[in-house]
Amino acid sequence: MSAPKLSEETFDPRSPEEWAAFRALSHRMVDDMLTHLAGLREQPAWREMPASVRKALVEPIPRTGVGAEAAYLDFVQNVLPYPDGNLHPRFFGWVKGNGTPLGMMADMLASGLNPHMAGFNQAPALVEQQLIDWLAELLGMPGGSGVLVTGGTMASTLALGVARFAKTRELGINVREDGVQAWTNDPRHGPLVFYGSAETHGWARKAAEFMGLGNRAFRRVPVDTDYRMNMTALAEMVTADRAAGLIPFCVVGTAGTVNTGASDDLTAIADFCRRDKLWFHVDGAFGALAYLSERLRPQVAGLELADSLGFDLHKWGCLPFECACVLVRDPELHKATYAAPASYLAAATRGVIAGGLPFADRGIDLTRGFKALKAWLSLKADGVDKLVRLVEQNVAQTEYLAKRVEEHADLELLAPAPLNIACIRYAPAGVPGEVLDAVNTEVLLRIQETGIAVPSSTILGGRFAIRMANVNHRARLSDIDIVIDAILRLGRDVLSEMQS
Ligand SMILES: *Cc1c(COP(=O)(O)O)cnc(C)c1O
Repeated sequence: MSAPKLSEETFDPRSPEEWAAFRALSHRMVDDMLTHLAGLREQPAWREMPASVRKALVEPIPRTGVGAEAAYLDFVQNVLPYPDGNLHPRFFGWVKGNGTPLGMMADMLASGLNPHMAGFNQAPALVEQQLIDWLAELLGMPGGSGVLVTGGTMASTLALGVARFAKTRELGINVREDGVQAWTNDPRHGPLVFYGSAETHGWARKAAEFMGLGNRAFRRVPVDTDYRMNMTALAEMVTADRAAGLIPFCVVGTAGTVNTGASDDLTAIADFCRRDKLWFHVDGAFGALAYLSERLRPQVAGLELADSLGFDLHKWGCLPFECACVLVRDPELHKATYAAPASYLAAATRGVIAGGLPFADRGIDLTRGFKALKAWLSLKADGVDKLVRLVEQNVAQTEYLAKRVEEHADLELLAPAPLNIACIRYAPAGVPGEVLDAVNTEVLLRIQETGIAVPSSTILGGRFAIRMANVNHRARLSDIDIVIDAILRLGRDVLSEMQS
């Protein structure tokens, strides 16, 4: 029988000529992007989208394609010039990394190769495992189990799941089968609760809600004036909760809190958890990387005692989004929490699925992309020592910033800045608090809107703060000066406008 005549299509170019044209377009894409990256300093840190762009980005469904070249030109015109600014040397908002040129190219290679990273008998799986082993060794958890995930939120949420599994198994509860529902009126099913300082990042609330524990299950421990967890309060809260029939299962310590860069006393939390038989999780979204620096390690000492650790590589690790990692000290517990065998995924001793699906067994995702490549390639190319130097460079820049603020009578540092975050404001003597809040809000918006730089904000002790978080490998000391000078100049302008 001869094959029926079908007009068979593919997304590949279909002839040598089409391949040549696509190759030329691809080279242009690479060149355009590298030109963009090489010229960032000449660009504003951010620009508002004009109405034409907003209009261009609301289109009818494209039933018929316009071709790669025309679609790409649309990207160049309407998308490329209008990101949120995190590529820029003066982006200090929230905690967002810049990405790197090599990381960008690695993402292209990862998409090109397009491996399915549940596991399988393939070199890309060995690359992810190698990377995890390196990270585990670097962060005091040699032999630990890990998996790459989208972000710190996912990393810490997965770790909290392991903590819950460990505690419930100890109590003889099958949490995987029964969940946290009180099916049986079994008193062991008392509400599970976990602890973190009031400065813990918002992932903990989302995790508590998502895991069916409820937001009330996340107990916020007050902080001291240095924004670190008050250990006496922690002990009192755990005792009171136990007396009330609740079941504490985990304490979250943060290495590098998002507001101020303070770190909890992780060694003290580790001791407390060991005595009280609680799981010790460290959220080191950005701060975990401070552990790699001999100079900074004392701030996050105790991190190496964690039962689990969540951290990002797309913040201080500088890699393109998304890239984060969860590490769990006990590989058996990690797997027992998440592995879910299925007939269509059964491992064999030979062939493509030999070795099973180790990464799918360490989290929720089944299909996963090759995020590991950009991290593996970058660490090999640049070495860990360079990453450490860049982390230290950002801290030194923040120290300089804090010093300039403290030396100027019209500027105020609103919290200690021990790591890479400084919360500051324009605050000439004699101006009332509400006015300072309004002035600094306006100053911040003008700095962003004029494209000078992108700091963000927070509220500390009821006071509006301009917040400078530095995970920027492109920033120089002169960029810090530009921001400080802009705050002073705009502060004077705005204050006099408000007073006139
Ligand atoms: C950014 C951050 C998170 C969340 O990480 P994502 O990668 O944004 O999900 C958690 N904790 C801290 C301390 C953070 O700074």
